Amino acid sequence: MEKIEILFKRKICDNCIGRQFAQLLSGFTNAERGRAIRTVVAGAIDAGIVSANDLDLSNFIGYNFRNKDVQEKMKGLEERKTACEVCGGIFEHLDEIAARAVKKVSGLEFRTFLVGVRPKREILEAEEKLWEEFGISYCEPIKVELNREIGKRIESITTAKADLKMPDISFLIDFNKNKITYNIRSVFVFGYYQKIRRGIPQSRWGTPGKYKTSIEEEIGRHLLNFFDGGDHSFHGSGREDIDALCLGWRPFVIEIHNPKKRSANLRDVEKKINRGKYVRVKSLRLVDMDVVRKIKEEHGNKEYVAVVALSKPIKKSELGKLKQLVGQVEQRTPTRVSHRRSDLVRRRRVMRISTSFINSKKFKLRVRCDAGLYIKELISGDKGRTKPSVSEILGQPARCEKLDVVWIEKPKI
Ligand SMILES: [Zn+2]
Repeated sequence: MEKIEILFKRKICDNCIGRQFAQLLSGFTNAERGRAIRTVVAGAIDAGIVSANDLDLSNFIGYNFRNKDVQEKMKGLEERKTACEVCGGIFEHLDEIAARAVKKVSGLEFRTFLVGVRPKREILEAEEKLWEEFGISYCEPIKVELNREIGKRIESITTAKADLKMPDISFLIDFNKNKITYNIRSVFVFGYYQKIRRGIPQSRWGTPGKYKTSIEEEIGRHLLNFFDGGDHSFHGSGREDIDALCLGWRPFVIEIHNPKKRSANLRDVEKKINRGKYVRVKSLRLVDMDVVRKIKEEHGNKEYVAVVALSKPIKKSELGKLKQLVGQVEQRTPTRVSHRRSDLVRRRRVMRISTSFINSKKFKLRVRCDAGLYIKELISGDKGRTKPSVSEILGQPARCEKLDVVWIEKPKI
């Protein structure tokens, strides 16, 4: 600290001085710290305690020295208006930069924001050089001060607040390219859906035109309208087959990318969605991103109703044997999904079974079981890969003709 005056060997602004002491005396801005230090050093020069010889005296323009020698040296300096050699005078332009950033996002609804800057390379180099000379005991990097100071100015000209954790808008201000860009945080909407018509997939299908629509699109297009978003992605807590109904309420989160609005009357959205013929939704609400992970990890129990078709006729009384399905089922990854699931044997529980006879070659099977049990294979046996199975117990090939999810355990979210 005794060599505080060496900061003034170059032209330096209040911010760049104050920043070297940013960790001392909270409650001041760096500009205030810098101004105070400049005044103290000016006083020391005037008193002859600090030699003016090696210093850039243009740092002290505006101070009225009483010391005649110093007065002499100050003569003519008034004309020399040069910028800070560390930051290039950037702090004088922050109002203008903040205004530019805010203009970029006009029309967007946001309550919180974050500022990130990329200072010019030469500024970072000048800062490094200063640190080598002066030390870094109490300093903060210029990047940090710029982020904060621009943030304060954006706060003063909008109603939004700076937020480091979950900003609605993240600005990136690149001083090398003189460019301001921004990211909009997605909106995440949680809810429950029922699929009331067969034949559509849960997520948008890769090949366009293969399916008329999807659960995702039926829900997503209305949300895009309400939030004025760019695109959507869908995260279901499990999924039913394309040809199955889902009459239980399945939890989902849909992500709306680049929303221009961040609030909507979700009851109105529900009404719009529920006018469609494929999907019903309820309890829509805004959630944080981590709910996506939570619903993916959710393993609520499920209940299914299947129509089972047999090749040989049976008596109604034989259906009683199917009680043997209750308990543990060992299921090797079904052949029909083995291209997208790793091949392993899963153990799942069947909690409850009930049957109702339709005719000698057809019956309804109601199964309450763990999440992740493949019901079509529980019926067919999948060539012995699922044990026990309806086929195995009845001693003849059995086939799932129709499958509906009728109940889904409510998630703990
Ligand atoms: Zn500066």
